[in-house]
Amino acid sequence: MVDLPATIDGSTKIMGVIGDPIAQVMTPTAINPIFAARGANIVCLPLHIGAQELETAWAGLKALRNLIGFGITLPHKQAALPLCDSLDPLAERVGAVNLVRRETDGSFKGYQFDGKGFVRGLKRQGHTVTGRHCLMIGAGGAAIAIAFALAEEGAASLIIANRTRQKAEELAEAVNRVAGRSFARAEMSGQTHTASGLIVINATSLGLSASDPHPFDAGLIDETMLIAEVIAKPEVTPLLEAARRRGAQIHSGIHMIHGQIDLIAAHMAA
Ligand code: NDP
Repeated sequence: MVDLPATIDGSTKIMGVIGDPIAQVMTPTAINPIFAARGANIVCLPLHIGAQELETAWAGLKALRNLIGFGITLPHKQAALPLCDSLDPLAERVGAVNLVRRETDGSFKGYQFDGKGFVRGLKRQGHTVTGRHCLMIGAGGAAIAIAFALAEEGAASLIIANRTRQKAEELAEAVNRVAGRSFARAEMSGQTHTASGLIVINATSLGLSASDPHPFDAGLIDETMLIAEVIAKPEVTPLLEAARRRGAQIHSGIHMIHGQIDLIAAHMAA
């Protein structure tokens, strides 16, 4: 059951979440009780917008004066970048936006909370990131945000393995440049090397569907590792099930959402 403002009235503000598909989004369920608890007269709703309609819909969103902003999910995170009137430096660095807020002058500014959400989610579950060696599968929007956040949190190293190796190489270079240290390196997906004590992160979309293959060879998992997901639905992916069977600690993508939702609520209600 979703907590909504005590009364939805003429002064209720609207926050959207845009994406395609949209039925899987968990932001409204997670953020509406936070708005209600804060006494904020804001309601968050899913808005189903396809890639072809993004620009048209954007103009419509801008015209809705009681819309305070919107979360952004697949496939719009990168496409939204040039549509924003301004960008927070982190969103610019990551090259993807997961939140747009209407600023006091009416302009739309793009923000990025995914990386912070992932790291906060781990820490809230009692996991240490600082000083840890990490392996991440994927180099798309979520992976880029996570790579920068791991470097900022002081993780010891990051191997990035991606189907398209060039994207992993570009990401490793960009993160090393910003971090000012030799932190990340690229590896070919499918030739992944693992070591004990690793934090292994699935930052691909593999696992959304039960018929997907594992993002990497689950036979490499041992009980010293922490296997973390970006996928929140299903809460326990086939990879996490396999990791649990092999005695590893597991960490659902749901924690990445909860790790950023309070920050987003505070940002929108400010
Ligand atoms: P992108 O499309 O930007 O990136 C997808 C990544 O998955 C790429 O690295 C891509 O590899 C890889 N990939 C896709 N299909 C395959 C395949 N068949 N075999 C191997 N690799 C594959 O998506 P996002 O980064 O935006 O999203 C990725 C996932 O993260 C989604 O499931 C999304 O729901 C989830 N997510 C969860 C969040 C949370 O709060 N829990 C927040 C943000 C995202 P390649 O580069 O070769 O194409």
